[in-house]
Amino acid sequence: MKKDRKPQFETMAIHAGYSPKNHHDSLTPPIYQTSTFTFSTMEQGARRFAGMEDGYIYSRLSNPTVEVLEERMAILEEGEAALAFGSGMAAVSATLIGLTKKNDHILCSKGLYGCTYGLLQLLKEKYQINYSFSELSAADEILSNIQENTTCIYIETPINPTMKVIDLALVARIAKEKGIKVVVDNTFLTPYLQKPLTLGCDLVIHSGTKYIGGHGDVIAGIIVGSQEIIDYLKRTTQKDIGGIISPFDAWLLLRGIKTLAVRMDRHCENAEKLHALLKNHPKIKAVYYPGDKGHPDFKMMTRQMKKGGGVLSFEIDGTYEDAVKFVNALKLIPIAVSLGDAETLIQHPASMTHSSVPEEARLKMGISNQLLRLSVGLEAWEDIWEDLKQALDSL
Ligand SMILES: *Cc1c(COP(=O)(O)O)cnc(C)c1O
Repeated sequence: MKKDRKPQFETMAIHAGYSPKNHHDSLTPPIYQTSTFTFSTMEQGARRFAGMEDGYIYSRLSNPTVEVLEERMAILEEGEAALAFGSGMAAVSATLIGLTKKNDHILCSKGLYGCTYGLLQLLKEKYQINYSFSELSAADEILSNIQENTTCIYIETPINPTMKVIDLALVARIAKEKGIKVVVDNTFLTPYLQKPLTLGCDLVIHSGTKYIGGHGDVIAGIIVGSQEIIDYLKRTTQKDIGGIISPFDAWLLLRGIKTLAVRMDRHCENAEKLHALLKNHPKIKAVYYPGDKGHPDFKMMTRQMKKGGGVLSFEIDGTYEDAVKFVNALKLIPIAVSLGDAETLIQHPASMTHSSVPEEARLKMGISNQLLRLSVGLEAWEDIWEDLKQALDSL
């Protein structure tokens, strides 16, 4: 092995950011379940507050367990630094509040996580921070949607739940010329499948609740980016709004990350199998999956995504009542929002995750009353398919 060769993703997911010798030789990172840290002398306390001496002060400012998670996520996303939060929305709000000021404009991908949309409305009503949506599909279209006061482009790709993919390198190139920051919500793909920072984007956000944690037992969020932006967010919107993660939840994420690569491989493999089977079932009108080789944007997708991910959406060929009947006939697959868990989960965006979007806007986004979103889990794909098939056959 060459001496300067960097360890690969799978290896870093297990080792990066942690050294047992700094923690009493503990194999796994200890949970530093403490609110505060003691100073040996008054002078030492003063030096730490003045930033003249490294060391911990108080767990809202930094905590050793949380720091291992932040360092590991920064390395996996190929960013300089990271911050962990108590939820994905705490990370989204700390970012958008931190990056914008009154009368700024945020340009967004057409299709956003429901609560991100809610936050944008709040920022507009209370703080006059404006937003609009764009397909972000081609250079001239992007340029025509950028305004004088646009300071931030906020992207989800693939877009939930329609699975449309945005060309991140293209958006980043245009944004850079204009001095606009590009923020990408990378929750659906994780750094194992897509690394927006390497494509020129400025910040990556995760709902750690999903694939990063991976076991449906924790709510968490993460931001990764340059040292400069992360330092700024750390001493402003993280410290003073305070949406931090607990040491125990950070530890759960660290445990989840160790198996991220093997889990994602299986999520993708299962999703590819189910995509092919669903596509050919007579009761299915359409299946939306970024790993679809027949997709017109497939070439661009393969440039920025390693695989298609573990989430797909499909439309029942029938009425809303057929969709209800189908979902209620499932025996193995639980009905639940969230995604990225070991369990396959199904949900109905029109009445659940996107129920707050007005009907006309929702239909324009491609979310019909017959559309269902499947987060493909880690069960044997044959068993997932058998459940889907028996429910489809009951229609
Ligand atoms: C779940 C989710 C969020 C919000 O994360 P929480 O951890 O639930 O606060 C943001 N973006 C996307 C794409 C999500 O799926």
